[in-house]
Amino acid sequence: MTARSNNYIGRFAPSPSGPLHLGSLYAAVASFLQARSQQGKWLIRIDDLDSPRNVSGAADDILNTLEAFGLFWDDSILYQSRQLEIYHSALTKLKQQRLLYPCICTRKALNRYYAHNPGANTYPEFCRNKQISEDHEYALRVKTESIDISFADRLQGKITENLRQQHGDFILKRKDKIIAYQLAVVIDDQIQQITEIVRGIDLLDSTTRQIYLQQKLGLNSQKYMHIPVIVDQQGYKLSKQTFATAIDRKAAKTTLFKLLNLLNQSPPAELYNAPVEQQLVWAVAHWNPAHLKKVRAIKP
Ligand code: GLU
Repeated sequence: MTARSNNYIGRFAPSPSGPLHLGSLYAAVASFLQARSQQGKWLIRIDDLDSPRNVSGAADDILNTLEAFGLFWDDSILYQSRQLEIYHSALTKLKQQRLLYPCICTRKALNRYYAHNPGANTYPEFCRNKQISEDHEYALRVKTESIDISFADRLQGKITENLRQQHGDFILKRKDKIIAYQLAVVIDDQIQQITEIVRGIDLLDSTTRQIYLQQKLGLNSQKYMHIPVIVDQQGYKLSKQTFATAIDRKAAKTTLFKLLNLLNQSPPAELYNAPVEQQLVWAVAHWNPAHLKKVRAIKP
């Protein structure tokens, strides 16, 4: 086994709402190559908090696919569903700073508001200063501040957003008591000591919210690289919701070759149909993230 420097720790964080499709495998390969090309660790986290969307057996199926592609991870896998206590103590910490408030707004009421207020697309803060009785079902929102949050994305350049104006107070615990992704992710990235996050550009929009939570919770920050997402012929991001086809593990060799091309790494023709291990050795040695296209979407 290759020695890992331990300085770089990357991760891949699939949601077990179905099998891996080409779009998620694209992100997995990119984050793997980015980590391994720096002799770094590559960790797995299973984002299984949204239990209504979890599909039984999907997490194992995803892991089997990663293995079939030679994408072996380090350390033990982190399952978000086993971390609930830690998320709740983070909520307590935010509550002590008076940054949380219960929100009883329904989706219907908010949609009605947005329909009547064109241009308004952030939460209108209806519940920010209300006394809400405990008998109501409520979500917990975090108060945002009118401050600019910036980060330097390795591929997309400098991003600056005003949190309150562009995102508004956002939910950390849903009405159905499920911890929101935005909160869980910052805690897990701290626990796994992640140094850089490589993920799809669809999550670029979440990053300043995550940095804000890191600041409020006193957590480490990471570097970021948001890469294009793969879209279908109609331009929709491949996802389980759009019924993207599951990866065929038997076609791993040709699929990996295709992915290296989609990552714009120009693998040599003789690697076509070569064992995945051999393709990955080449890809790790030649990985150049600067070759990734600076676009939002690519078609396979
Ligand atoms: N589980 C998320 C997804 O599948 C990824 C979260 C992340 O990389 O931060 O889109």
